[in-house]
Amino acid sequence: MIHIGSGLVADTPGFSSLEFMEMEAERLSYCFPEMHKHGEDCKFRACLHDKEPKCAVKEAVDSGEIPRYRYEHYMQFLEEIRDRKPRY
Ligand SMILES: [Zn+2]
Repeated sequence: MIHIGSGLVADTPGFSSLEFMEMEAERLSYCFPEMHKHGEDCKFRACLHDKEPKCAVKEAVDSGEIPRYRYEHYMQFLEEIRDRKPRY
């Protein structure tokens, strides 16, 4: 659970907590430039780099190109967005 305003959002340049509250899961990787770069090689265009197969971001994390803590940070935000918004 990420507490908005506790500093976690402030640790991540690129968006404010207000923007985060309105952010779509699909746009989250735009705030993580290294993940967005690798994400262009993902098999699926709408890849969230979570459970999808042939995910270039997860491969880059496994090979050390993306620091694991950055990926975990991303996943925390993704979980937060999913908790906030019911799936359609
Ligand atoms: Zn991916």
